[in-house]
Amino acid sequence: MKKVKHIRILGRRYRVLRQNLGENTYGDMNGVEGVIIINPRYKNRRDTLVHEVVHGILHESGLTKILDQHPGLEEALVTTLESGLCRSGLVKKVKA
Ligand SMILES: [Zn+2]
Repeated sequence: MKKVKHIRILGRRYRVLRQNLGENTYGDMNGVEGVIIINPRYKNRRDTLVHEVVHGILHESGLTKILDQHPGLEEALVTTLESGLCRSGLVKKVKA
């Protein structure tokens, strides 16, 4: 199975890159540049990709601006959705 290199988030194409982001940083999403970065040093890359895609969905939908008014809420929401999606079996076949 091929690793995901691009992904469409609410109609916008995001590049998916693998880069070392340092310790304890699993991934990153830059909504301005349309880039998701996955840290290849960690094994849970699929979950990280799902996590960063959820951040991207919130960014593209404009909800990030509302969530920014409540510190910590976006991360809690994203982590919950990541966990639920990854355990649902829906994203089993994704290779990150
Ligand atoms: Zn996050």
